[in-house]
Amino acid sequence: MTMFHCILLERKSTLTKTYLIMISQFKALTSRYLFLFICLFLNSCSQVGSQFSGINMYSTREELELGYQYSIELEKQLSINYDSLLNQYINSLGQRLVKSSNRNNIPYTFKIVNDRSINAFAIPGGYCYINLGLIDLAESEAELASVISHEIAHVVGEHGMENMTKQQIIGFAGAMILGARPTFTEEIISSIIQRGVLTNFSRGAELEADRLGIQQMHAAGIDPIGFESFLKKMRDQEKGESSQFSKMLSTHPPTSLRIKKSIETRTSLSRKKYDADDESFLNMKQHLNRNYKKSNRN
Ligand SMILES: [Zn+2]
Repeated sequence: MTMFHCILLERKSTLTKTYLIMISQFKALTSRYLFLFICLFLNSCSQVGSQFSGINMYSTREELELGYQYSIELEKQLSINYDSLLNQYINSLGQRLVKSSNRNNIPYTFKIVNDRSINAFAIPGGYCYINLGLIDLAESEAELASVISHEIAHVVGEHGMENMTKQQIIGFAGAMILGARPTFTEEIISSIIQRGVLTNFSRGAELEADRLGIQQMHAAGIDPIGFESFLKKMRDQEKGESSQFSKMLSTHPPTSLRIKKSIETRTSLSRKKYDADDESFLNMKQHLNRNYKKSNRN
């Protein structure tokens, strides 16, 4: 989730096309946000990240367009799973959580990736990707929902677009400082993407996604304890040697802190009776075990 950020987003082939899109966005927006230029000279790159946390200079329309273009490029790099039972289940669970979110006025898309590693991620515009390996690991609907809810929360919190905004600022600084050589601007943006600025959210954004994710689960009638339960699985993995979790964990705040914060969020919620695991979850798991357990291992 972006609890699990997919390292695939940092692949160079995707990056080249992606940063061209970003550059065109960058060029279109620089004149609109000239005031930010001043800030460039006052802040280092790392400071920009914190100074401008929460700023999104894109409109929803721009975000949807960017997300759409990005998803097309991204999906050329991924093996998308089209199993109708799995997709129906994941989409239905995802839309249930979206309905309970604070940003349900944009369309969300949920796709399953044929990848056995434990990972999920979201990109701007409501595109959420969940790896087969993660679905396999979840032992309850609440655990699976917790991951999906966290990803939805990144879209709700517009974290991807905040990162994009930061890149605009940093790229603009570089170009202006060195005489606006366009190729240099492109190099800066490319470098920022390769460093994972686009997909690696700040600690604050991650904790916000945890908090919003838990609230969405609560509102949807899904027991938020599933989030803690899944985090504990991650913590146990951390104790082991190199694991499938290691990469996604490296982009997130310490799991112990996330567990502590999630308990605080959960206990602050009103008392409520949550739904039991839907029968469709068990059907989906059986289907997964029958069809994907032994085959399709990447
Ligand atoms: Zn995340």
